[in-house]
Amino acid sequence: MQRIYLDNVATTKVSNEVLTEMLDVLGENFGNPNSPHSFGRDAEAVIDLARDRVAKVINADRGEIYFTSGGTESNNWALYGLAMANRAKGNHIITSKIEHESVLESCKRLEKMGFKVTYLNVDKTGLVDIAELLHYLDQDTILVSVMAANNEVGTIENLKAIAKIAHEKGVLFHTDCVQALGNFKLDVKDLDVDAMTLSSHKIHGPKGVGALYVKHGVKIDNLIVGGEQERGKRGGTLNVAGIVGFGKACDLLLNNYIVDCKKMKYLRDYFVSSLEKSVANITVNGHAHQRIPGLASVTFQNVDGEALMCLLDLAGISVSTGSACSTGNKAPNYVLLAMGFSSEEAQSTVRFSFSITNTKDEIDYVVEEIRKATDKLRAMSPIKMTKKKV
Ligand code: PLP
Repeated sequence: MQRIYLDNVATTKVSNEVLTEMLDVLGENFGNPNSPHSFGRDAEAVIDLARDRVAKVINADRGEIYFTSGGTESNNWALYGLAMANRAKGNHIITSKIEHESVLESCKRLEKMGFKVTYLNVDKTGLVDIAELLHYLDQDTILVSVMAANNEVGTIENLKAIAKIAHEKGVLFHTDCVQALGNFKLDVKDLDVDAMTLSSHKIHGPKGVGALYVKHGVKIDNLIVGGEQERGKRGGTLNVAGIVGFGKACDLLLNNYIVDCKKMKYLRDYFVSSLEKSVANITVNGHAHQRIPGLASVTFQNVDGEALMCLLDLAGISVSTGSACSTGNKAPNYVLLAMGFSSEEAQSTVRFSFSITNTKDEIDYVVEEIRKATDKLRAMSPIKMTKKKV
């Protein structure tokens, strides 16, 4: 049976070029980059190269890149570190209801520490309500954190507008770009952000590594203490092989992302149009145009999303009904609820996410398997639908 991977928002396959560079580090270049001898210097040299590569992909300076263990840590650090460093100026933080849990849980912890957090609403396409942002910004606001692209529906937020509004009030702006990197051009200067979260494993790099961009001059308290690594801002011996892999993945992006995005969009659009021809009563979610190229969130009326996911798994197809990070959680997806979905609609939603390694033939097979599975599940359902034309 062929196996088809359509869960590239959860993670991506490490590319061969990335693997080759990582293996060299894991084998021979095993020094600690903080050691002053030649083994240490060799490790430091590959870290420097990786830092340059990550910086280049977002048009930052290398001194603005801090390596972390991934998007979750970067988000935790940004929220905690920026809030604590600016506590004397105010105690109000603004974020949105559809952020990744690493932002939302960080906010909840800050609330317990005495900060006030406003969670902005989104419209039915997943766009953050800018009018609400303007309404809630006040003299106590010290930080706005809004993601660049959502991991459930792929909607791309109006980052430039949000950054401008925050800065006009002298407020810092952090953005979680884990799902944006590789899907459209990210330029920290053009977007005018103060801090940006990045993760390696969504762009064909290894897991367990990421970065936080912090603009020169922006004050941030440490999250992880106990070492002078990362210019004294993040303790802990660096994950050299992981960082090298992340750097290579960024380097590959820089050269290929326009072509890769076109291919992912082509595959996604082909999937959606084939699905619309084969399966009745479906809705494609998220913003029609402001959406990352490789993602299709689809609601199948009168179909349990989990059951559909399981039937597709039996046919060798891997998809998702929610963020991988919350698997095991049977509650309806909070992003979809915030977008105004009913619990039933949220539970009938499946996320398909593509990468450049997918093919048209795979998509033909997937669409046919979805047709068979949805026919079966709808036939078993007590609710009988009037069959709409496909
Ligand atoms: N932010 C977003 C939007 C994500 O989708 C994810 C992971 O899915 C993360 C943060 C967490 O990143 P990591 O898996 O590197 O911890």
